[in-house]
Amino acid sequence: MGKSSKDKRDAYYRLAKEEGWRARSAYKLLQIDEEFSLFEGVTRVVDLCAAPGSWSQVLSRVLIKGETFGRAGWQEKQAATRDYVLGMKKAKLMEEQMEKLEVKDVKPKLREGVRIVAIDLQPMSPLEGVTTLRADITHPSTIPLMLKALDPDTYDPKSSTASSPVDLVISDGAPDVTGLHDLDIYVQSQLLWAALNLALCVLKPGGKFVAKIFRGKDVDVLFAQLKIVFDRVRVAKPRSSRASSIEAFVVCEGFCPPAGFKPSLDQPLGAGTQIPTPLENAKPKRQTTQRVREDGCIEINLSSESEDEDDIEEGGKRWIAPFLACGDLSAYDSDATYHLPTDRVSLDPIQPPTAPPYRRALEMRKLAGGAYGKTKLRDNKEA
Ligand code: SAM
Repeated sequence: MGKSSKDKRDAYYRLAKEEGWRARSAYKLLQIDEEFSLFEGVTRVVDLCAAPGSWSQVLSRVLIKGETFGRAGWQEKQAATRDYVLGMKKAKLMEEQMEKLEVKDVKPKLREGVRIVAIDLQPMSPLEGVTTLRADITHPSTIPLMLKALDPDTYDPKSSTASSPVDLVISDGAPDVTGLHDLDIYVQSQLLWAALNLALCVLKPGGKFVAKIFRGKDVDVLFAQLKIVFDRVRVAKPRSSRASSIEAFVVCEGFCPPAGFKPSLDQPLGAGTQIPTPLENAKPKRQTTQRVREDGCIEINLSSESEDEDDIEEGGKRWIAPFLACGDLSAYDSDATYHLPTDRVSLDPIQPPTAPPYRRALEMRKLAGGAYGKTKLRDNKEA
């Protein structure tokens, strides 16, 4: 979580620090759960691109500690906190309210056989009940690492699938954004395909997959591919994700690969590949063809055997993923600026970055005697 002036005005940035989340992204997952009951019946999860770990925190608190964050839980707390953030109540009063609002009547729902594996390029500080791996999700060597972390006792190095599959794979992967839209969208889509290929190795039939997407013009290609292996594919925009951002989340439910489908590491899925159907006579539930239109857009056509004819655009067969805004309308608007009380204290981040890319720059600045020293260094260099 940075400290730019935009971040400081953002209600979710502050709320995350007040409620003990490592990043404001926690609210995105909570709001997606609110809409799709994501964690219902879930015990085994893989969290991809997980650092600094707010999504893993949500998983740990829901699956291991049995906390509730549904409408009954976190929204009431949020309402109390909102009064504070809007400057109508003082901090003391809010603390009392928060205590009162602890959901006392709801007994924690403890789940058995919980396994959470979190993977990121960056190191991640430990979290209760979460196995963390430092690895690149785009690299094939990550698959055996992930499979071993999921089933340390029954792991078979010859197999590319999990011996006990998982209920849910989530991915919040994002590259360091360059500001060059096409490049950012391309790199992000590569992360998404990598996440999907990992998910195909570990998901159980009926499992769910949630991943960040940047809504570029070719996003339909992805939806069409996803629609072949999942019963339901929808796009979610949580209120905590800024409307001004092209970010959204694809929420896929009911994993149902075509008969005989085996994930292949030699031929991973990507924008230019089709889901293979290795068994004779085995036919994917829905066939897709792609063509580049005159206007440069890629058009995806689903076969007329599609079960989802209602979803198909009139006059053609292009399938449009339903788009859902999620998070209650009373939740904060992440694009709005909220008035802050003047006696407000600035809180430190819950988990400072473990290995920030700017660490070396800070060390150099310190060695040079701070910002003034840095100016002197630069002056000397220029001289
Ligand atoms: N969901 C996280 C949370 O709640 O704290 C925030 C994720 S952050 C937006 C995006 C993460 O993607 C970064 O930590 C980055 O290191 C990770 N990432 C980017 N490329 C990756 C890759 N190839 N393999 C693994 N992680 C990657």
